[in-house]
Amino acid sequence: MAEEVETFAFQAEINQLLSLIINTFYSNKEIFLRELISNSSDAIDKIRYQGLTDKSVLEAQPELFVHIVPDKSNNTLSIIDSGVGMTKADLVNNLGTIARSGTKAFMEALSAGADVSMIGQFGVGFYSAYLVSDKVTVVTKHHDDEQYIWESQAGGSFTVARDTSGEALGRGTKITLHLKEDQLEYLEERRLKDLVKKHSEFISYPISLWTEKTTEKEVSDDEEEEEDGEKDEEKVEEVDEGAEAKDKKKKKVKEVHHEWNLVNKQKPIWMRSPDEITKEEYAAFYKSLTNDWEEHLHVKHFSVEGQLEFRSVLFVPKRAPFDLFDTRKKLNNIKLYVRRVFIMDNCEELMPEYLNFVKGIVDSEDLPLNISREMLQQNKILKVIRKNLVKKCLEMFSEVAENKDDYAKLYEAFAKNLKLGIHEDSANRAKLADLLRYYSTKSGDEYISLKDYVTRMKENQKDIYYITGETRKAVETSPFIEVLKKKGYEVLFMTDPIDEYAVQQLKEYEGKNLVCVTKEGLKLDDDEDEKKKREELAAKFEPLCKLMKDILGDKVEKVVVSHRIVDSPCVLVTGEYGWSANMERIMKAQALRDTSMSSYMTSKKTLEINPENAIMGELQQRAEADKSDKTVKDLVLLMFETSLLTSGFTLDEPNMFGSRIHRMIKLGLSIDEDEMVDADLPDLEEEADEGSRMEEVD
Ligand code: ADP
Repeated sequence: MAEEVETFAFQAEINQLLSLIINTFYSNKEIFLRELISNSSDAIDKIRYQGLTDKSVLEAQPELFVHIVPDKSNNTLSIIDSGVGMTKADLVNNLGTIARSGTKAFMEALSAGADVSMIGQFGVGFYSAYLVSDKVTVVTKHHDDEQYIWESQAGGSFTVARDTSGEALGRGTKITLHLKEDQLEYLEERRLKDLVKKHSEFISYPISLWTEKTTEKEVSDDEEEEEDGEKDEEKVEEVDEGAEAKDKKKKKVKEVHHEWNLVNKQKPIWMRSPDEITKEEYAAFYKSLTNDWEEHLHVKHFSVEGQLEFRSVLFVPKRAPFDLFDTRKKLNNIKLYVRRVFIMDNCEELMPEYLNFVKGIVDSEDLPLNISREMLQQNKILKVIRKNLVKKCLEMFSEVAENKDDYAKLYEAFAKNLKLGIHEDSANRAKLADLLRYYSTKSGDEYISLKDYVTRMKENQKDIYYITGETRKAVETSPFIEVLKKKGYEVLFMTDPIDEYAVQQLKEYEGKNLVCVTKEGLKLDDDEDEKKKREELAAKFEPLCKLMKDILGDKVEKVVVSHRIVDSPCVLVTGEYGWSANMERIMKAQALRDTSMSSYMTSKKTLEINPENAIMGELQQRAEADKSDKTVKDLVLLMFETSLLTSGFTLDEPNMFGSRIHRMIKLGLSIDEDEMVDADLPDLEEEADEGSRMEEVD
């Protein structure tokens, strides 16, 4: 080995991960092989792709393969690939000094009871080598660098050195596992073959196992017969029995020789006919494609023919990955193949962002093999493929929706994506709207669709009513839905922040407008009697409304008599086209918001009062008696602030509100407040004198 051996410390989190892998008991250790083979396959993908535009990178080793070599005399297992290899910098960074977001996330998942087999999803699969090894040696050759050797027994550090003495790889990586004493099962041919079949069957490069064959040779014969393995084994036994036949002309001796044995089937699953493929095969393919430890929720396997030709297999996973909306990380969703040749992972041009949770492959017959990322962006064929894929995805979701339980899983995991789709994909908005589900005033604990809503609308009902808010509890008890509930109209609850964005774009469903019950312009079909009564009340309360508006100034746009509340004294509604209270809350919560928007989008508020509420009745009388009644002024402000809260807004001056409430409490408790000085607030003493005094508190 070379003289210069550099030692590096593992990055802290990686070090932690390594001790966890080494010291915790996991029975499912076998997954290490799948992880290493999957890394090899990725590395071959990379060099193959580079080779499409620059043939010279393949010259050092034109063949693309994965080799598995068990060595019983040294208790080592090696996985060798002719992939891209790693430069020295890659080695240091990728295998030890730079932690990914997944390092920590995986440890958290493990301590929360996750299985070690999930490691691949978190992008730290390499370290699973330490499930079965005391020491790992990585020899690697990248076409831009020399051959290097990395070695570590974990324990905090690893070494990297030029590899001058080892055999030359040409290009690629050889990972040698020095197996722990109790892990020698991974040297057994049968075990290795089964593992590759089980976990790595769909790797699209040949995986060969270095196998040992014992054959017999008849020495007296000049000719040497090459026979295949199974027959040899039978004959091996005969050799012993045949000892007595020694004096015969031909002498038999055992001979051990090695050969490569191909272990994975390589016809890609998408080239086969869907009705010949079992659910298990799809599941195995899905797992190998995604590193997911669970099966897929649903699969769609189809081909498109005609002007353009491609095949595709698409999967919906059962859960969202831990970093679904992590904007730093582009998700690996659709793999692109051209006539069976892998071109690239995560072809962004093939799927809109909102469908980033759909996994799968596309194999095009029409694209050129040497297509580059740059060319993809303007490629017409790709645009057509994308359109088809989106269509198929939506079909696939409706298929899932036929089964309530399955759809509940999909919706729980990916509702945000579908709603993002409503916002972004105008062409498919109507189809996406069919996939939405909500709770409502009548839904109980089962989600309903907009279609469900429409089919059970009341006879005279024209619009679809919804309310937005922070939680289901908050909207369920909101004053805004009082009258709708009383009249028997169903109201949808939209409590996901993204609902606000989606519903702005959706606007209608099957010709029915979506109407927000917290905004102006809510029209309810009142009968003549109700209308008349309302007009009378409006006239009667006109002076109070005016007085309230005077008191509140530009805190509100106007004060009017409401027809949407039954129990509450008043609510604050917002303009039909401005932000709702909920939207205002969401926007305030966004740290990076552009504040220039907020000035004109901030909700213009209308205070709606309930003429049938006793408080309003009393206020009206007092106002009539004395327009400048201080108590009325104070109470109006308090009513306004309370309705900010009950209507879903936040208080601009919570302390003012607090002081007002404290005064009321003291009043209720009949505490004398001579000393209280607060220039901003009207005095409440008179009120206290008038009101029925409670027992004096000591
Ligand atoms: P992941 O493969 O999910 O990125 P790993 O921990 O398995 O995470 O591997 C870390 C990195 O090490 C890989 O991203 C890759 O750059 C490099 N690597 C691992 N194995 C190989 C290999 N056989 N050939 C080339 N590079 C490899």
